[in-house]
Amino acid sequence: MEENKKCYGSEGCSGDCSSCAHNSCSGDCSSCGHSCGGSKEDFLVKLNEKSSIKLVLGVLSGKGGVGKSLVTSLLATKLSKAGLKVGILDGDITGPSIPKAFNIHEPAYQEGGLILPAVTKGGIKLISSNMLLESEDDPIIWRSSLICSLLTQFYRDVRWEKLDVLLIDLPPGTGDVSLTTFQSFPLDGVIMVTAPQDLVSMIVKKSINMVEAMNIPVLGVVENMSYVVCPNCDEKIYIYGNKSSLEFKQRYGYERLDQIPFDGKLTSLIDNGQIEDYQGNYLDTLVDMVKEMRDLKYE
Ligand code: ADP
Repeated sequence: MEENKKCYGSEGCSGDCSSCAHNSCSGDCSSCGHSCGGSKEDFLVKLNEKSSIKLVLGVLSGKGGVGKSLVTSLLATKLSKAGLKVGILDGDITGPSIPKAFNIHEPAYQEGGLILPAVTKGGIKLISSNMLLESEDDPIIWRSSLICSLLTQFYRDVRWEKLDVLLIDLPPGTGDVSLTTFQSFPLDGVIMVTAPQDLVSMIVKKSINMVEAMNIPVLGVVENMSYVVCPNCDEKIYIYGNKSSLEFKQRYGYERLDQIPFDGKLTSLIDNGQIEDYQGNYLDTLVDMVKEMRDLKYE
């Protein structure tokens, strides 16, 4: 196999990316030493004819528990309130937490061969593996090939009618499930979520490097659980320290889009399925950025 920095390499590679399912190929032939005749588009999953999506954005942290689902739910809520038609594809197949935030407990139905997404009270369309289970507490004990196939089905076979934005809550890690999502979904960009601890930043940086290797734009990084607010004097207490904007950019290579504090109100909104009742300023910058991207794509 030829030396190729964009390719993670695997033994027995024929160099024919078009017929290759192994996890060494980024699907980006422009950066690839092999001349296989395939292209990035060959890997992309096509939408069904009842669906149209203007913008596809991923939300990723790489590490569990950092707040990726919270940011996805909050961003979807705010974009929807700003007048955009929003969908969420819960790509965290083994740890789905999005339906709970929106109080969605019904199963998914199908019509005309397509899966119908649930619709939240604010009009957000949503699909999640939890909507396929008999009991929400049932675990999904699947090999990654099956997880990958459900993920692509959630894009291809769901009726995503006339969406401005589809947010994909991307699976954690940098393994083959993540690779499938990066190769299969036509991502216009990825929003990274991190937390101020060094350990988290190390894992998040790995994921950023993976997104870059796949040639997908990183829109920036949201820092979650940055501080707590003293209930008596409103002082912001940065438990894990507070990087300056410059230090932050040096660490991650991208702008800090926002800082969200530990906020008990957010926890209870999520736990009670009421995230759409959130009133506040978190993620305002990101909302403007996404609206601008959507407008540019409509031009
Ligand atoms: P991930 O998707 O990265 O695994 P989640 O978004 O599910 O993480 O968050 C994990 C838990 O932490 C959830 O119970 C969520 O409600 C809570 N949580 C996340 N961010 C905050 C925050 N800023 N303030 C309070 N609770 C939070």
